[in-house]
Amino acid sequence: MTIFDKISRTLQELGVSDAQGVESLFAELRKAAEHERAELVARGTPQQAQRVGLCKALRDRWLARKGGVLSQVDENWLKPAGKELKPVVGNQFNKLRRFTANLEFEKLVEALPLQQEAAPQMELPLGAAGRAVPWDLTLPGLRRPLGSIHPVTRMQREIEDIFLRLGFWIESGPEIESTYYNFDALNIPESHPSRDDWDTFYIDAKTVLRTHTSPVQIRAMEKYGAPLSIIIPGKCYRHDNPDSTHSPMFHQVEGLAIDEDITFADLKGTLDFFVKMLFGEKVRTRFQPSFFPFTEPSGEVAVSCFVCDGQGCRVCKESGWIELMGCGMVHPQVLRNGGIDPEKYSGWAFGLGVDRFAMVKYDINDMQLFFQGDLRFLEQF
Ligand SMILES: [Zn+2]
Repeated sequence: MTIFDKISRTLQELGVSDAQGVESLFAELRKAAEHERAELVARGTPQQAQRVGLCKALRDRWLARKGGVLSQVDENWLKPAGKELKPVVGNQFNKLRRFTANLEFEKLVEALPLQQEAAPQMELPLGAAGRAVPWDLTLPGLRRPLGSIHPVTRMQREIEDIFLRLGFWIESGPEIESTYYNFDALNIPESHPSRDDWDTFYIDAKTVLRTHTSPVQIRAMEKYGAPLSIIIPGKCYRHDNPDSTHSPMFHQVEGLAIDEDITFADLKGTLDFFVKMLFGEKVRTRFQPSFFPFTEPSGEVAVSCFVCDGQGCRVCKESGWIELMGCGMVHPQVLRNGGIDPEKYSGWAFGLGVDRFAMVKYDINDMQLFFQGDLRFLEQF
């Protein structure tokens, strides 16, 4: 009878009635565990998939809650043990448990470092002359699954394409930004709540993770002067807890057009064209007054729901409209801060959340899905 037959019987059935008998049974088990582990390590690990399989199998054989060696020992030896033997069986069982800790999956994987070079591990096929040839070219190749474009990237590119066609160009800037470019130059006063460290990630008193892509507006004005027509896609950071509509890291696209005689009509016309290109010809835009420190006047843009055409549905929360963007005429002080004369030039700007656009367009109800890297989700795009 092997030790593995013995663990399916009670000590009484095995006729073991003293400490010495118990100890020698457990010694036999430890030896078996060590033997199986050594055998696996000696076997080597040519391939990742095989390594995972082998390690899991050994772990399960010994440590699985249901039917593993340890659980059988617990069930058949420890639990039914009589009063006199219980302490020694318990003691031995604990010792075995500590001993088999190195059969945990992670420990096994660690003990089996993956061979970097898969090829030399494989048995070399013999050529016609009986000599080993380096590789069997008749074997099928490794198939690597094709990736796809992340929905947020896809959305961003769609937005970029529309504005590129209108003659805008793409500008980018640093994600670690000075408070001057992130706040001061944009006319955001010292006392503004968005400067609070509950809202903004500060690196030090003068440096932040940018809270919007707007600092690039100032940088571009300084760099190019007027006229100017750019869009600014990029990552932004705010002190938000992740939930279905917030993320501490998110994506924005801003647009900025500066020239002589630019009016609010240009802004409305451009954004109307933009949403029609993105959501379809039938979509209408709605502008409502709003306030931002860096634009005057400022507005919020909503589009008629492209799903229900304004009738009310789940996507538009029964309102018929979807709030999408903030916009306005660039504040004269902001133009001045960028080195542009507001007496001669005027401009408009807008800002939108790319993640939100992607959620609306692809009907996704949880923003976190974008950032969790779950292939089941991502493979749909
Ligand atoms: Zn709707």
